[in-house]
Amino acid sequence: MTIALLPAPLPVAMPLLVAVPLLGAVMGSFLATAALRGAYGESLLHPPSHCRGCGRRLNAIDLLPILGYALRRGRCTDCGTPIPALFPLAETAGLLIGLSTLWQFAGADLLAALLFGLLLLAIALRDSRDFTIPDILSYGLILSGLGATAWLKPALLPEHALAALLGGGLLALLAWGYKRLRGRDGMGWGDVKLLAGIGAWMGLHSLPMVVLLAALGGIAQAVWQSRGKPQATMMIPLGSWLGIAAWLLYVGQP
Ligand SMILES: [Zn+2]
Repeated sequence: MTIALLPAPLPVAMPLLVAVPLLGAVMGSFLATAALRGAYGESLLHPPSHCRGCGRRLNAIDLLPILGYALRRGRCTDCGTPIPALFPLAETAGLLIGLSTLWQFAGADLLAALLFGLLLLAIALRDSRDFTIPDILSYGLILSGLGATAWLKPALLPEHALAALLGGGLLALLAWGYKRLRGRDGMGWGDVKLLAGIGAWMGLHSLPMVVLLAALGGIAQAVWQSRGKPQATMMIPLGSWLGIAAWLLYVGQP
């Protein structure tokens, strides 16, 4: 008997095999720009992409996902200012989201999964910068999750709607209880809306594992950042870990 760790990939058309991972990487680059500009309170569209050190406008080579960073050795060619590591990280994550989506989904499911993955990436990137999850992303996640379920698995809509309510409600209760107990905020409302969105996309049965994995990730980060002496007041981007955990489980379980 053989035990398959991963299900066999679904057959996909050749152009999709290139287009989906490439789209993921390009979107990763765009979402990293959005996260950085959002955290600085800047406009997303103006000015065009430029070096933060000298203002040099980025050209086609600079903007190549992953390769641009490697070819420039992580620095601006004019002034040597380091390119934020968030870019190659986000581009690689986008590429992996594209590849894992192709591996597990086809047709309309593939489109929906790609949207879910990229929304989670946008949320994870922004939360990692300034512990903020913009409402447009969290509400967008809830609405698109319910919409995708209604479209693709209508019989599961009541369960997914309940998961959104319970997921959000559970974190809201935890956030409220922590604040009463400690007198300070332990969790952001963005995380509450994010877990509601994850519930809308993934349903009830996935929520406990998503929360557990995300908590383990957050604890591991706190231990690593504090060199083994984590403090209760440390800021950890729970939203980033919820996003990573949700995606791993979404593509990991058929
Ligand atoms: Zn420069």
